[in-house]
Amino acid sequence: NGFIELGLAPELVQAVADLGYTQPTSVQLKAIPLAMGSGNDSTSFIDLMVSSQTGSGKTAAFLLPVLHTLIQQQAAAEAEERAAFERAVAEAAARGEPAPKRAKRKDPTNSRNFKAATPGALILCPTRELAQQVAHDAIDLVKHCRGLRVANVVGGMPYQLQIAKLQNANLVVATPGRLLDLQRSMQIKLDKVQFLVVDEADRMLDLGFSDDLAELNQLTAQRKQTMMFSATFAPRIQQLAMRVMHDGGASVQ
Ligand code: AMP
Repeated sequence: NGFIELGLAPELVQAVADLGYTQPTSVQLKAIPLAMGSGNDSTSFIDLMVSSQTGSGKTAAFLLPVLHTLIQQQAAAEAEERAAFERAVAEAAARGEPAPKRAKRKDPTNSRNFKAATPGALILCPTRELAQQVAHDAIDLVKHCRGLRVANVVGGMPYQLQIAKLQNANLVVATPGRLLDLQRSMQIKLDKVQFLVVDEADRMLDLGFSDDLAELNQLTAQRKQTMMFSATFAPRIQQLAMRVMHDGGASVQ
């Protein structure tokens, strides 16, 4: 399977195999290694401006590297938590005290435990239909990932249901308008977003989302990786790229 050579996490290689993908498409071969960067933290990731048509496999080209890094970060955080607990147990034993108990996770469905969602990755799509399709693809790709959750935020869906699903989401797929509504009503905080993807940037501009994109860019973490996917590199797309990416992003054609 040609996805193994890309260095993707085994959970993701298994998921693409389940979907019947055997070889990465051209845009996946170009974009995935660049997007994965060389380090384990988003400071070493470069911004990308990718030219891509619908049907080229562009969705997996941005979902796979983002999910790969979220998996790695989650594994590192779990290892750190385990090590801290083992240290606490050893220290208690050295003092002759009973072993500490692991902290219980709070039940997120209990409204008393409500906290604004703080996803690490955000995918912005111009339309509800596209956002639903991308979220659907993301759910297929995380099926072997324990503890990675995907949520979809689009207009026209009942507000309460969407808020419930957002809790604990690591990756949010959204249309800009509804996402800004949820951000303004403090249901979601975007300052932990270290991966920002703008899908179909040309259609985003056609639909008048330019200012919303700039606002969402400001609300997400300063240090992050931004990827823009667009059918064309027209001047207005390059202007948007200059507005939201370091040096306008590295071009992938
Ligand atoms: P997209 O361009 O993201 O809309 O993808 C177009 C279609 O290609 C979708 O149905 C994907 O499931 C499929 N696809 C994506 N990557 C691959 C691949 N490497 N091999 C085969 N099919 C793929």
